[in-house]
Amino acid sequence: MRQSSAFIPTLKESPADAEVASHRLLVRAGFLRRVASGIYELLPLGARVVRNIERIVREEMNAAGAQEVILPIMQPRELWEESGRWSKYGPEMMRLKDRAERDFGLGPTAEEVITDLVRSNVSSYRDLPLNLYQIGDKFRDEIRPRFGLLRGREFIMKDGYSFDRDEEGMRRSYQAMYDAYGRVFTRSGCTWRAVEADTGLIGGDVSHEFMVTAEVGEDDIAYCEGCDYAANVTLAAYRRDERPRGEGKAAEKVHTPDKGTIEEVSSFLGLEPKLFVKCIMFLVEDRAVAVLVPGDREANEIKLERVLGTGEFRLFGDDDWKRFPSYLQGFVGPAGLRAAEIIADEALEGAGGMVCGANEKDYHTVNVDEGRDFQVDRFADITSAREGDMCPRCGGTLRVEAGIEVGQVFQLGLKYSEAMHCNYDDENGMSRPMVMGTYGIGVTRLMSAVIEQNHDERGMIWPLSVAPAMLHILPLNYEREERSAAAHELYESCRRRGWEVLLDDREESAGIKFADADLIGIPYRAVIGKGYDEDGTVELQVRATGEKRKMEMQPLLDDLQQAVDELVNERPAVT
Ligand code: ATP
Ligand code: MG
Repeated sequence: MRQSSAFIPTLKESPADAEVASHRLLVRAGFLRRVASGIYELLPLGARVVRNIERIVREEMNAAGAQEVILPIMQPRELWEESGRWSKYGPEMMRLKDRAERDFGLGPTAEEVITDLVRSNVSSYRDLPLNLYQIGDKFRDEIRPRFGLLRGREFIMKDGYSFDRDEEGMRRSYQAMYDAYGRVFTRSGCTWRAVEADTGLIGGDVSHEFMVTAEVGEDDIAYCEGCDYAANVTLAAYRRDERPRGEGKAAEKVHTPDKGTIEEVSSFLGLEPKLFVKCIMFLVEDRAVAVLVPGDREANEIKLERVLGTGEFRLFGDDDWKRFPSYLQGFVGPAGLRAAEIIADEALEGAGGMVCGANEKDYHTVNVDEGRDFQVDRFADITSAREGDMCPRCGGTLRVEAGIEVGQVFQLGLKYSEAMHCNYDDENGMSRPMVMGTYGIGVTRLMSAVIEQNHDERGMIWPLSVAPAMLHILPLNYEREERSAAAHELYESCRRRGWEVLLDDREESAGIKFADADLIGIPYRAVIGKGYDEDGTVELQVRATGEKRKMEMQPLLDDLQQAVDELVNERPAVT
């Protein structure tokens, strides 16, 4: 690629809407442009990175025994009705009608389509296991598209699906994908962590997310310092440490005038927030349910959803407080409370000497003991783990860090095969549902995640494996014929070897050339300048380390060849 004619529209200023480094740098370096909220164009350099990531994904998928297919983006409503997701997916699914008024959805994933394909074409145990994947556009009408490619409304995903005879087979397929995913992220130049995850709208029981650690990550991960426990904070468990026991004193009502929040009452009474029982009212499918958590914690709504067994619940709103006037907003407490159900966090089981609302304006109750002063219908894990909590497995210390979810794998089980009758005949001619797994990698999100982990204040620092080019040739004072001739010779030598290189053949100042090269972040740079005039040497610069070495052309090519060979060695053996 010659820079003088390449389409690389760099910008001096960062775009106003870009809040994170990857978004800013991709736009400034001319890799990416926005068309509409969450919808982007990938320019030549950006497209190359995407294709490189896709190549790594393909190599790993094919080596793990998966086969590539290309499925439609436009998917008929009828299939989605069969799984029940036409209504469940809600407004996040982009929908359209054809000229005959038939409904279609633009695929956010493709479980329905693939299950339909397999049920119509696979019928015998001999054809299983089967693992199919595709790489292509997905659509999700996200509430808050943001951070450029990190959360788009149209984005590229690799989605894969496995079909097995039984649970054991499914677990094997799952493990093969889990291992392949780890290799994809390592080869793409990321530091990552696999964590236990919620199954959300996709469904199933067991799931792991692959998280690239980054400050801008929208997920929080809890992991143990002492063992390999790691989970998304939305479901991470933790051991409740010693709970307050109280001194067996009788409960007592105290006047707390104009003190609404726990912080206010806590400093007024001189009692720590963790001694409070926070009583939160939820409307659950039309019932008033009281949720109790320690005063220094919040209810985790994802955990709560699991405990309640329904997603149909919300915090009490103005209308609900009006509808249930017996609950006094700001002073609700569990003692003497009537609710359809009282659910408490495990930390409150057996807790004593607590403080809670007295169900009376401007009053709280102190010395409250669970069991004596209030009864709980169900104890459950409904609060989030946080930094410093105890590991549920080994009792070690949990740490919390932010991560970008670049992939997720699910053991689906029978969810789709039963709903959609995707069966096979076993050895005895018995019809059984196939046991499925589903696996996704956010290809465009991964591209941004790579940058979040690999950049500095001057620009991006591409890992060689996904870089838009391996070498950036920078002849300074391009108009000098001997330098431009040397640059062309190097360019041709690289191209003969099949390498992607970018030749800065613009008649720009050295300052502009270096600044653009730093921004674009190609891993190696060959500067052809004064040294070349003096003794025919080129300066090889490494973007990541800043290392510089004077070299003659041939040894430079040999060094690069070695780097390329090392990359090739990372490729999996083809089975
Ligand atoms: P999130 O929790 O971030 O919304 P998700 O869990 O809904 O993502 P999955 O259904 O697991 O996403 O999809 C598989 C992968 O696709 C994700 O791990 C992520 O890398 C990618 N992905 C999902 N939504 C988006 C999006 N809006 N933009 C870019 N990539 C996405
Ligand atoms: Mg996910």
